[in-house]
Amino acid sequence: MAQDDAFKKLVSHCKEYGFIYQSSEIYDGLSAVYDYGPYGSLLKNNIKEYWWKSMVQMHENIVGIDAAIFMHPKTWKASGHVDAFNDPLVDNKDSKKRFRADVLIEDYMSKIEAKMDKEVEKAKSRFGDSFDEAMFRQTNPRVVANMEKFTEAKNRLAKAMTDGDMADLKAMIEEYGITDPDTGSKNWTEVRQFNLMFNTQLGNIAGEEGKLYLRPETAQGIFVNFLNVQKTTRQKIPFGIAQIGKAFRNEIVARQFIFRMREFEQMEMQYFIKPGTQKDWYEFWKESRLKWHLALGQLDENLRFHDHDNLAHYADAAVDIQFQFPFGFKELEGIHSRTDFDLSAHQELSGKKLQFFDPGTNESYVPYVIETSIGLDRMFLATISQALVEEEVEGTDNSREVLKLHPALAPIKCAVLPLKRNDDQLTGKAREVFNLLKTSFNCQYDDNGSIGKLYRRQDAIGTPFCLTIDFETLENNTVTIRDRDTLVQERVAIDQLDQIIRDRVDMSNLLKAL
Ligand code: ATP
Repeated sequence: MAQDDAFKKLVSHCKEYGFIYQSSEIYDGLSAVYDYGPYGSLLKNNIKEYWWKSMVQMHENIVGIDAAIFMHPKTWKASGHVDAFNDPLVDNKDSKKRFRADVLIEDYMSKIEAKMDKEVEKAKSRFGDSFDEAMFRQTNPRVVANMEKFTEAKNRLAKAMTDGDMADLKAMIEEYGITDPDTGSKNWTEVRQFNLMFNTQLGNIAGEEGKLYLRPETAQGIFVNFLNVQKTTRQKIPFGIAQIGKAFRNEIVARQFIFRMREFEQMEMQYFIKPGTQKDWYEFWKESRLKWHLALGQLDENLRFHDHDNLAHYADAAVDIQFQFPFGFKELEGIHSRTDFDLSAHQELSGKKLQFFDPGTNESYVPYVIETSIGLDRMFLATISQALVEEEVEGTDNSREVLKLHPALAPIKCAVLPLKRNDDQLTGKAREVFNLLKTSFNCQYDDNGSIGKLYRRQDAIGTPFCLTIDFETLENNTVTIRDRDTLVQERVAIDQLDQIIRDRVDMSNLLKAL
């Protein structure tokens, strides 16, 4: 299936089965804002639980907080967001559409990359087994020329972004002949900086004094609470503070469904360490976070590290974990070595000491920080896009759409289905089984269709187990339990169901793999 079609299918699946709806849809929606439906909110909560437990429950030196969305406005001055949380914006004068200049240039670079890859693929099929790709890339004149173009654009973009050189971004757009992707127009405005923070006003204070920001990241709520948490929990360096919460960014271009939203959720952990140890901890958290993704059954080939070409103002090293979304490899999570930038800046602006006193050496210092920051919504998109599979059902002419979610993440753990809806004995027994299990799991009772249809619906929402109540159930108190992925059906006693399902859907299965 073409990438575009696969993506459209995913988006419509999310809506049709109650995972994600456009916000305020009856008013034609609000751009880049989405609501999670009944199954979506359950799946999202399960992802949160996996992350939270893997951080807070699994580490004796990581604790969690839940800071407010509103913070004192000086927070954002100290963090650099007021002055530097900008994206370069450019408008097309003909189409009146707005773009991020850096993204237009990156798209131009992706096209060059695609040309090189195509050249390599052609040669591979021509030369067969004897093909030496590395040699070909070094010697083929067309590939070499394109590689030079690519590298020049990459370096120039990194420099212009680091220097905040808007004029050079505009010059690049012109020199590379970049056009509006929808209309082909080259009629561009100047490139200018656009601050991504939303703001609002406190009711009782007029003017600049009362200006509040909606937090653009959850991290600052952790930094300003660093000493409160350290003192009240008696943690020693190294230790971490974890938080899950909403963040808001006035994104210039918000496409690609829940990948880039204006209101989204982050799961962030700041790990406070001794200055000088940052390289080792950075490597530690890179590996640890990759393992977290792989434990879910995410395929190795769908994940990769991508080092940042231009570092943010606060970082001395930064890497993304990219995931192969239906529209290509893109950032899913960031791991950043933030130095002592944030704590020092808050210390300076607030005039309050934000230091750790090490009783072992009798020294006080501002700790360095390694941050792991993942968008919950992007993780949702990655999870559901890998899980959604269309496959033939063996031995039949039918195909089925199935969400092969890890059982610990599945919104509904088991469905209780009477074989016939018009038989009071079967439906009565099915409700009895449902009532027995509902205190342990999210279960669903459904008699609204033929058994085949009921299975398909549970497959589509990712339910790992379907229990069928049939005539044998009435005789000997057993049910069949159907496995979503293998389609194997086992007959088991009703009084064993709770334990069997518990063993297979328990979150600890995931945590043990870490
Ligand atoms: P991008 O380059 O895609 O704009 P970023 O580098 O600005 O992302 P960070 O500031 O590092 O992102 O934020 C950490 C994480 O928060 C990202 O890895 C991503 O998963 C998530 N995130 C950031 N912006 C958004 C958004 N607009 N919508 C959804 N998730 C987001």
